[in-house]
Amino acid sequence: MSTDTANLSAHTPESHAAQTHGGVVLAGLTKRYADGTTAVDDIDLRIEPGTYCCLLGPSGCGKTTMLRMIAGHETPSDGAILIDGKNVIDKSPRERGTAMMFQNYALFPHLSVRDNVAFAMRVRGVAKKERLYEADRVIEQVQLGALADRLPGQLSGGQQQRVALARAIIMRPTVLLLDEPLSALDEFLRLQMRGELRGMQRELGITFVHVTHTQLEAIAVADQVVVMDKGRIAQSASPRDIYAQPRTEYVAAFIGGQNVMHGRVSDLGDAAITLHGAQGACYILPRGDAPVSIGATMSFAVRRDRMRVTGENDAMAATPNTLHGRVRELEYQGIYMKVSLVTDDPSAPGCVVYVEENTFFKDPVAVGQRVRCGWDIGEAHGLAERA
Ligand code: ATP
Repeated sequence: MSTDTANLSAHTPESHAAQTHGGVVLAGLTKRYADGTTAVDDIDLRIEPGTYCCLLGPSGCGKTTMLRMIAGHETPSDGAILIDGKNVIDKSPRERGTAMMFQNYALFPHLSVRDNVAFAMRVRGVAKKERLYEADRVIEQVQLGALADRLPGQLSGGQQQRVALARAIIMRPTVLLLDEPLSALDEFLRLQMRGELRGMQRELGITFVHVTHTQLEAIAVADQVVVMDKGRIAQSASPRDIYAQPRTEYVAAFIGGQNVMHGRVSDLGDAAITLHGAQGACYILPRGDAPVSIGATMSFAVRRDRMRVTGENDAMAATPNTLHGRVRELEYQGIYMKVSLVTDDPSAPGCVVYVEENTFFKDPVAVGQRVRCGWDIGEAHGLAERA
């Protein structure tokens, strides 16, 4: 187990710099189930106080297990969980200063909104007058004042979600843990509620740790996105870095919006790497910090919206950073045209380019047409091996 949490990567969103409570540190956190499954594998992670953190990954990657361990609903096999600097491994869920909001909201159908919200205080023996006062305070905070006497069955999905949120925050946690909080909502409500969750997190000023498998949800709400892969962290960074600078092929493919290509390193300059792909393709990319050697196979990514597509013509000599191919499909998306290609380089068989609408219609390409697609050197970045 690594106890040296000082080396963990820090994320300090400026807007949260003043927060002092709700910092979470995971050090060497591991969960092995009795059947031999390692759901969470030696994870180190730092979440600064007041951060909106999303744990993102495909089904089965260990995000719920990680959340449940932070909440105290699952016992780690190894490692430490620090909340505001104190190891809480031996503490009960109540003693940790955390609260959990569940996927299905877990509301009591026979209790009114007010009694649902006051329930946690009732369990803790808080006097009726005080708990109803507190319940009304948080019900106002989530803008459900007019519906406090209704039963959950008389509420919409979005309203039920707000009740669940009110119920989670009534005990004034420093860390709120949210397990797929938007998954029960339809598309329209999901977009609305994710904005509300983000707004509520800012207003409350507490740390949110939100589990989701939806990429756009994570990058829309989070200050820090933690992409998980088979129980490990593939990358933990700001949404912009996750989207624009995925570290590995796995992250690039999972987040989307990128074309990943491969080549063999044929030249190493101080500032650039030259790769050779199939069919004489030549790619030049900026040299990063990662070690790389001549002859090694390397993958790199270029954002879909940073590529250009033009009709192929004989006058074009072979230029670096160019894929040749045929247009397979065009999909109009309003602000851009999605151009899907079948490329000649078998290491990059499918390539998708987002061409801004005006640019596309100035010089359109058609389905079936031979095209070439290029990008500036600075738009490519090398990818590391899978973590
Ligand atoms: P999902 O998005 O589907 O909820 P997840 O990323 O949250 O997935 P977890 O629920 O944390 O994933 O599960 C991680 C791994 O641990 C999976 O392989 C799962 O099958 C396994 N697992 C979870 N709970 C148990 C258990 N009680 N016993 C054995 N294996 C388990």
